[in-house]
Amino acid sequence: MKQQYKSYEESCAFLAACVEKYPDIISLENIGTTWEKRPILLATISLNVAYAKLKPALLYTGTAHAREWIGHELAIDFIDYILQNHTNNPEILETLSKNTLYIVPCLNPDGFEYSRKHFSFWRKNRRNNGDGTFGVDLNRNFSVGYRKSNNTSSNVHSGPHPFSEPETLAIKKFVDEHENITIALDYHSQGNVFFPAHKFNHESEIEGTDMNALCANMNYHIHKVTGRHYGINRGKPPTKLISGSGREYYYSKGIIAIVVEVGTRNIPDYIQNMSESVQENIPALLFALNEASNYGKSAPKRVENFHIDEFSDSSCSLKWDYEENPNVYFKIYRNLNNKMACNESSLVGTTCNKNFIDENLKSGTMYFYYIRAVNKLTKIKSPYAPKVKLKTLLDEQEFSRTIFPHAAEVGYVSEKSPEANHGHFGVNSLKVGISEGRGISYGVMTFDLSSIPENAIILDTKISLYPLNRVSAKIEKFGEWSLSIIDNETVPNIRDFDQVHEAKHLKTLGASIPSEMLTQGIWSHWDCNEFENKIVQKKLKKRKLTLKLAGPTTLPVGRDSQIMVFDIGYGNQGGGLHYRPSIDIKYTVPSEKICIELQNSMTIAPDEITHESMACGFNKDDEKIYAYMSFDLSTLPNPDEAVITDAWIEISNTSTVKKEIDIRYNVEFIDLEEFGYQDIKDRERIEFIGYEVSSAELGSKNKHHFIFDHYSKLALEEKHRARDEAKFIIRPTSVLSRDHVINWAYKGKNAAKLKVRYIKRRKFPLPSPVNLKTTIENKLIKISWDKVADDDLVGYYVVRNRWHTPKNPFDGVKLYAGVDNYTFDNYGTINMDKYFAVFTYDNVPNFSQPSSIEYKAK
Ligand SMILES: [Zn+2]
Repeated sequence: MKQQYKSYEESCAFLAACVEKYPDIISLENIGTTWEKRPILLATISLNVAYAKLKPALLYTGTAHAREWIGHELAIDFIDYILQNHTNNPEILETLSKNTLYIVPCLNPDGFEYSRKHFSFWRKNRRNNGDGTFGVDLNRNFSVGYRKSNNTSSNVHSGPHPFSEPETLAIKKFVDEHENITIALDYHSQGNVFFPAHKFNHESEIEGTDMNALCANMNYHIHKVTGRHYGINRGKPPTKLISGSGREYYYSKGIIAIVVEVGTRNIPDYIQNMSESVQENIPALLFALNEASNYGKSAPKRVENFHIDEFSDSSCSLKWDYEENPNVYFKIYRNLNNKMACNESSLVGTTCNKNFIDENLKSGTMYFYYIRAVNKLTKIKSPYAPKVKLKTLLDEQEFSRTIFPHAAEVGYVSEKSPEANHGHFGVNSLKVGISEGRGISYGVMTFDLSSIPENAIILDTKISLYPLNRVSAKIEKFGEWSLSIIDNETVPNIRDFDQVHEAKHLKTLGASIPSEMLTQGIWSHWDCNEFENKIVQKKLKKRKLTLKLAGPTTLPVGRDSQIMVFDIGYGNQGGGLHYRPSIDIKYTVPSEKICIELQNSMTIAPDEITHESMACGFNKDDEKIYAYMSFDLSTLPNPDEAVITDAWIEISNTSTVKKEIDIRYNVEFIDLEEFGYQDIKDRERIEFIGYEVSSAELGSKNKHHFIFDHYSKLALEEKHRARDEAKFIIRPTSVLSRDHVINWAYKGKNAAKLKVRYIKRRKFPLPSPVNLKTTIENKLIKISWDKVADDDLVGYYVVRNRWHTPKNPFDGVKLYAGVDNYTFDNYGTINMDKYFAVFTYDNVPNFSQPSSIEYKAK
């Protein structure tokens, strides 16, 4: 098997041959010499390679860790692919005309050869430590965060001092001398995960969106080839810094730096797995290479102050600042999930303006927006502005709840550790799948539904889990992970493996996730369909919903683990409360019905007005006769606390005209103070109600429904709010007819009625908090505000954004939701400028306009 991989000697020979064959495209240099006297080769690939340094560049480094052979193998195949195809693929040629590739197929040749020939799982280089041990971990020997270690036999021994090793010193010098490097990709194995660089604090960084978007776009290309989704592990700083890594050194020099962990094993089955890993990464690498120029000196500047201006339940307007530049336009991308591609598949706007309105959005839904400036002539793009997050408002009939499981009700149960299972709940991340040690493991979680009325009608259910770590899912394309609603009655104790194992499944939600689609660092969402929503609705009566997360339950011969880890937010391994599993439920409640009897009726003809009468049509002179009706709305509930969901007028005709006479009858919602014939003719129409009925319909049935549209329902609420009557006329229309009059019932059980259905729901948000202040207390920023005294107040919602004032409670990092009138920026630093916004919310929830404050670091 090992023979299928190229040796370092073979790859050096291959590179030399390439230079001979394509001298205009590729050049080769030795950037250093290892302890065992091997050259560290770096290839430069660019169109007119002699001028490579004039173009923005991508730096590729492979196999810094000896046993991680993919980096070396992928490099050779990528170089081969570019050279073979640059003449027949104009896109590669264009990429090479604007960008340069610096590629070190193997940064650790000594270790690599040692791993190939002697000890497969060797990781370090081959420094003689002088105490009988060998090797320094090159990825701990860079200067940023360097930590000295004295344990020379350790796999992560960092060496005597930063850059003590010829390999790290060589690449450092090269990077220092090449300011044209804008992106650095360091290829390792394993995990199928991108690890972008970090400054190791909890504040967002200006390049954060760039790094996530680069990974997401590379992921898009990977997915096209093999269907895999790599994880993108950014957004949550690791608890401890990875000291002295190459990635952090490159990032410290302003380079977009990412570690790519490829495959599920260090040395995989070549034919089955490694070749797939290589093939899926080639188009992703080509994409990344093309991005280098978007971060170069000639790229347009990043858009500033990209923010939400206004939003509703179905639209949002975005604004941004940019200096006047006729050569630049903007591309706006919209995604439904974090860390998704920003390319043609998500492009929603192209404009030269500095604002954009996005429409046809779904209510109560999260959206992620991105923007880049583009040079009209060169097509070179700018870096991304920090992304903007928005949750659209709820539709006026909707309520929503986000529910998290209590710590005691989320955990995992393993087959082989019945005693330990109890202790996992609320403490350990969910380990789901199978391993030799644990046997089968299931995740299980119960959500308390008591904040939702028992009779609610579920409109949407979205379940979210945060995949924390996929490194223990070690087998490529093996097994699926699925989430099911289980019958609580069959699992009285969710900590009992046997009960969970045998649980009655009511429904498995959506599609299962095959192992190659498992991600890490990208939320997994399950959006329930109507049938699944019905099951959730039934669970409202029981006040709880229990979910079981299951993975594969068998292992192939010789393999020891196929375990996926999901975060529970609690415990030491967890990422904090933001990473709890959650269930977002959108619902409405059954409506109540009110029947409003007719208040006043009239027939208004040119010559007379008849009270207590409702007739309409045409008189002998072909003049219109109008029927008038009004309703007293005082029995309707307070319009600020109720939403009219349906309204219609029910009228019955008590006479007919000949069917062949083409008269049609409209109901109009009107504003009218005086009731003379001329007043009626000059009336102000609010809206038509429903459609007209024809003479023929009057003959075939005598009860007619005129249905209010959305606008008319609002107008009805307006009348109610103004303590006004609702007034209507029935108006005849005709092409040619005279002397035909229809009578409508105005008394008795068939008398005209206004029927209204409504739900109790607050319509408007509460006032915004006032007197927002920031102070420093115990080295933390404390945000405080005055209490809002209102019985309908449920709480305050506090959000932080480093880049702009959050106009939407979801545009930034949530710091707090609750009834206190202060909170702390717990994980934030006091040394950075940022914005805070506080919103009030009621039980719908309607969020108020934000109160915001800019914090300036001292
Ligand atoms: Zn590695």
